Amino acid sequence: MIDIKNLTIQKVHDDLSRGVYTVRDLVDAYIEKIKKDDPEVHAYLEVFNDIYEQARHAQTLFATKKATLLTGIPIAVKDNILIQGKHVSAASKILEGYKAVYDATVIKYLKEQGAVLLGRTNMDEFAMGSSTQTSAYGITRNPHDKNRVPGGSSGGSAAAVAGDMALVALGTETCGSVRQPASFCGLVGLKPTYGALSRYGIIAMGNSLDQVSPFSKTVAESEIIFRALSRFDPNDATSVPEENRIGTKHSVKKIGVPRSFLTGGGLDSATLENFEKSLAKLASAGYEIVDIDIPLLKYSLAAYYVIMPAEVSTNLSRFDGIRYGYHAEGKNLMDVYTKSRGEGFGKEARRRILLGTYVLSHGYYDAYYNKALQVREAIAASLKEAFEDVDLIATPTTPTPAFKLGEKMDDPVAMYLCDIFSAPANLAGIPSLALPSGTTDTGLPLSIQFMAPHFCEDALFEVGKKFETIR
Ligand code: GLN
Repeated sequence: MIDIKNLTIQKVHDDLSRGVYTVRDLVDAYIEKIKKDDPEVHAYLEVFNDIYEQARHAQTLFATKKATLLTGIPIAVKDNILIQGKHVSAASKILEGYKAVYDATVIKYLKEQGAVLLGRTNMDEFAMGSSTQTSAYGITRNPHDKNRVPGGSSGGSAAAVAGDMALVALGTETCGSVRQPASFCGLVGLKPTYGALSRYGIIAMGNSLDQVSPFSKTVAESEIIFRALSRFDPNDATSVPEENRIGTKHSVKKIGVPRSFLTGGGLDSATLENFEKSLAKLASAGYEIVDIDIPLLKYSLAAYYVIMPAEVSTNLSRFDGIRYGYHAEGKNLMDVYTKSRGEGFGKEARRRILLGTYVLSHGYYDAYYNKALQVREAIAASLKEAFEDVDLIATPTTPTPAFKLGEKMDDPVAMYLCDIFSAPANLAGIPSLALPSGTTDTGLPLSIQFMAPHFCEDALFEVGKKFETIR
């Protein structure tokens, strides 16, 4: 019997190399766990039917000494990442029945290394949401407390890893969609530098913000996945050439805490107390913790909720009822468009299309969209300036622990506030790492996040690994 609770990528690799068990034994253990627990948790929209075939391929890579750290690793994939020949829906009815015609670049890399893709995971429709309750295919529950949300939008991927139904998983971030569910589910979530991982084959939400992002139980595993997938991709116009990926090399000494930013976001007392404890631990480990002031950070979420819907309304215009998925019959072409889109998109997607179309409309373009872009530039500049003095910036990952199912569904602004601390990193394109920092009295996971300058993922891994040992 394989103890899947305590596995890591490195341990699995060592075990598979030594023949302690086979890839087939390993995937069987996960399939069994999925069969047992997923009917209630609903992390997966689909468990693939070619898992054994993939396992066989992985086993031959071991037999021929071509195995890498990711060979045979059972991984769950968010339902907005294309896998050739498989259904992909972004959890929307409008993509019902659609099958991907090519592999996303990150999937191509995973396949090359013989990772085992277990299935596609549930998410908020088109990655819009913070709770995985806007999926057209039902909600996902938090394995730590089944009456609570796993966070979102990559909630299915988070629940799969937290519930030991995958060893690791891929999600995507536009604004916190991996760090926030990582926080709610007690996992490590890494949002890489924009342009580090290819976006080719990812169903776009906000192109200037989207980034493929891994979930794992340990920092070392996020690092392994990051290193395996972070490569220049000529198919992605925003992929940064390797020679331009220059981060700082010195090790981390000083961590800044933007105090005034923390107070505006509805931070609850247990989260704040835990955050202070985490800072004390970091100080005891020798890091210098200093208060910093970045007044513009408080505008991050507002800027995000103008820029993102603008990009959403553009991206989602391609779903017209003709080219992909869902089709409704109509009297004429316009009728087909409006019926297909009206019936195919859920409420949140429609809300954001309307918002985006509004901020991009002729009379309001300058007042909203252009203004938000200016705010975004100013936020990025003030973060850059802050990093001249400190190596990393720390905040709680989310203002509260996981909330109850059903909560905030009638109050979109309350839902949007879940990502108050996520937004700066996505807007500025900088990397950020969320990691478990303890639990509430009732056992709900809490989390701290660090932000670093562009391409300074190494600094995040260094401090993250250190933080794990002083817990
Ligand atoms: N909560 C964010 C939103 O709803 C999450 C977006 C994301 O990261 N995909 O827009």
